[in-house]
Amino acid sequence: MSPAADTLRAAVVGAGPSGFYAADQLLDAGFGVDLIDALPTPFGLVRAGVAPDHPKIKSVTRVYDRTAARPGFRFFGGVELGGEITRAELLARYHVVLYAVGTADDRRLGIPGEDRPGVHAATRFVAWYNGHPSATGESFDLTARRVVVIGNGNVAVDVARMLVLDPSELAQTDTADHALRALSGAHVEEVVVLGRRGPAQAAFTNPELRELGELTRADVHVEPSELELDEHSAHWLEHEGDATARRNLELLRDFARRPVNGHARRIALRFLRSPVAVLGEGPDGPVRALRVARNRIELSGDGRLEAVATDRHEDIECELVLRSIGYRGCPVDDVPFDEARGLIRNAGGRVCDEDGRHHRGEYVVGWIKRGPSGVIGTNKKDAADTVSRIVEDASAGLLNEPARSEPDWITDRIPTAVAWNGWCAIDARERTAGERQGRPRVKIVRLPDLLAAAVGTA
Ligand code: NAP
Repeated sequence: MSPAADTLRAAVVGAGPSGFYAADQLLDAGFGVDLIDALPTPFGLVRAGVAPDHPKIKSVTRVYDRTAARPGFRFFGGVELGGEITRAELLARYHVVLYAVGTADDRRLGIPGEDRPGVHAATRFVAWYNGHPSATGESFDLTARRVVVIGNGNVAVDVARMLVLDPSELAQTDTADHALRALSGAHVEEVVVLGRRGPAQAAFTNPELRELGELTRADVHVEPSELELDEHSAHWLEHEGDATARRNLELLRDFARRPVNGHARRIALRFLRSPVAVLGEGPDGPVRALRVARNRIELSGDGRLEAVATDRHEDIECELVLRSIGYRGCPVDDVPFDEARGLIRNAGGRVCDEDGRHHRGEYVVGWIKRGPSGVIGTNKKDAADTVSRIVEDASAGLLNEPARSEPDWITDRIPTAVAWNGWCAIDARERTAGERQGRPRVKIVRLPDLLAAAVGTA
């Protein structure tokens, strides 16, 4: 239903968790909300990032379904800001334009050989096994016997686990069919997860790390000597370290003490090693090894515990490298962007220019506001912070004053835009196909097929 002419209108761009939390809170504040996403499907990284063997985490979408059912909410999928629509067009029609576009790019290592065949961003691997339409054409050489995953965050843990899951476990998940086939036939024997700092600085959360010790087909291996803390880390852990870091260390010590189960696969967690070059035949040959420097931990001037390379190097033979060193935002249309931080330029959620002057009516939430950190629920509080500023600005008469109303402008312009009932049609089709195979869903992964399913013609 189109909103009444006197309703304050908000366009939320990006239908991931932060977009949904902000939409819900804007509805509470009396706004009509148009939630716009470049994909025909909602839920952002819940659909395309959360590992397929973590269905409980995905069940958060029930909360978003309730938001979508509220009066005043409309969804427009398959509509890209900077593609079919522009920032100027949004500002001409909405009192509030809120960016919730996430951080679509990945960070790079900047080392020689990083572009060799066989070196990929873990974020693309994640998008591929989760059936993101932009990643269905990618391929990963899963004849590799050893894979190195660079980084000590939860994404590194997710991809390491996905590489060693038993085919019977994968078969119960909503892993995209192309990836299900490839992963089920993978030859991977060892995944080496490489941290540049020590075990006390790993960014894993406890349940994710613990799960590595519960895999049915893989042993987890940790060298006891790598768990001996340097003086700085020991001091930090005793005086400042948080419960997560302490528990991580206990889990790692437990892994190091465990007898080998004799599983066919193994995940080796290694610390204090930074990649310095990807080695292979000639300048462009595929990866054959990763050269790493041994690091030591030093206290930097700002009190941070840093990895500092020593002159000791070693080569880890491998045929596939996944760099999992964090996401990075990319510019959207002409929205002010802070290149150095890889984020939309903002002050506490208000989009601003270099001098800190607020761009009236423009706001930001989620990873593209604060950087790629935290779990899904972190975005609820983050959205509340931005929405409270919107409410403040509304009371002070400082929102955007759109020149036009045109409530149906998106569907008039883009007849293929997928409404919420279109997504429900996609969802029903995927779930029905899943039921036949004992899986939560069989994902539709090609854009034309998603659009066809949305109108019931697939
Ligand atoms: P992350 O948690 O920020 O971890 C990035 C890792 O990359 C860190 O260990 C970092 O080490 C390392 N790194 C950065 N630059 C590096 C370099 N040049 N060389 C070597 N290592 C480098 O990022 P993420 O794993 O992408 O996860 C993003 C967010 O999503 C996190 O908040 C995570 O908890 C969340 N997430 C949660 C789940 C879940 O709850 N199940 C699953 C996936 C992701 P330093 O610490 O030394 O910088």
